[in-house]
Amino acid sequence: MSAVTREFRELYGYLPEGVWAAPGRVNLIGEHTDYNDGFVLPFALPQRTEVAAARRGDGILRLHSADAPSGAVSLDVAGLDPARPPQGAASWSAYPAGVAWALLDAGLPIGGGADLLVRSEVPTGAGLSSSAALEVAVGLALADLYGLATTRPELAALARRAENAYVGVPCGVMDQMASACAIEGHALHLDTRSLEQRHVPFDCAAQGLRLLVIDTRVKHALADGAYAQRRASCHEAAAALGVPALRDLPYAGLEQALASLADPVHRKRVRHVVTENERVARIVELLRSGALREAGPLLTEGHVSLRDDYEVSCPELDLAVAAATAAGAYGSRMTGGGFGGSALALIDADAEPEVGRAVTGAFRGAGYAPPRITTAAPSAGAVRLR
Ligand code: ADP
Ligand code: MG
Repeated sequence: MSAVTREFRELYGYLPEGVWAAPGRVNLIGEHTDYNDGFVLPFALPQRTEVAAARRGDGILRLHSADAPSGAVSLDVAGLDPARPPQGAASWSAYPAGVAWALLDAGLPIGGGADLLVRSEVPTGAGLSSSAALEVAVGLALADLYGLATTRPELAALARRAENAYVGVPCGVMDQMASACAIEGHALHLDTRSLEQRHVPFDCAAQGLRLLVIDTRVKHALADGAYAQRRASCHEAAAALGVPALRDLPYAGLEQALASLADPVHRKRVRHVVTENERVARIVELLRSGALREAGPLLTEGHVSLRDDYEVSCPELDLAVAAATAAGAYGSRMTGGGFGGSALALIDADAEPEVGRAVTGAFRGAGYAPPRITTAAPSAGAVRLR
């Protein structure tokens, strides 16, 4: 019996109807492009969030996470209200409760309620999207339990709606799409405007390569305010340029667009977004042609753009990137929103100990807490396990 099944039985006194899992994600390239209607290229991590679940018949939703200290949270499905999300120690339960609310609000009948037990391998707040893993695992569990006819992209959109409207985090749809739709050995090339998605072969191991995920284990307080500011700047710049979104600026017209912007901050933000969309397109081409190593310099270029033009990096991320590239990585960049979280490094498979030591040593030298370094193979999206 698996750990979640056993814990479910200990907590609720009966066996779950099933167990579902959804992974965290890393974004290979395409950062801060999603709210500009642009392109992203995430892949799913091997680390997942599992949910053991069973239907109830009385309209109660009971939520328990092995990773949260609140104990079981009991909510009335009919009373779920985005204006009154759970607070305090129970605030984590806004994610699963929000998913239940989003399903109901979309006319999907889950009114009988459910008992849920959550356990995760995805570190929270490391920029690896434990929030989407939780939402998508819960969404898939509820959809399967109630036999709802929803597609993976629809579930991802509902999970995102839960995070936006119920939890109150203004995230784009990338994380949920990656967690719900990714397939093993592939990255997910997503057009965040049309939601068109393509699975691009991304098999590091076959090319003797490996991806390191360096979790800096810092989260700077700037993050939320800066995110809102960046979004606002991008929307202002798009309006000033007379386009619906920065996605509509072609790379070939970048210099001309920059010359017509009066605000120097807008110029930097626009340059990042337009060049980043271009980097996504180039890396997709390289992956398709099997020239993975050549993607390295574009990853590092993306980091420099985020650091200097978008100004969302931090000393710990910059040090991780500098140390990894100095130790022989083909390329390295911060991944996720920034101001902490994780960096990626593309390395030769046998260089893992050396690059790991170099990064850890650099952190020690700078007086930073040791980073958590793992490797990430592109893994499967959400599944029913049992
Ligand atoms: P990230 O998605 O990068 O890990 P977020 O701040 O978006 O960071 O989401 C982290 C939050 O999601 C946690 O603070 C918690 O509220 C919730 N969460 C994620 N995974 C779990 C889990 N396994 N159990 C309880 N809450 C979780
Ligand atoms: Mg998140």
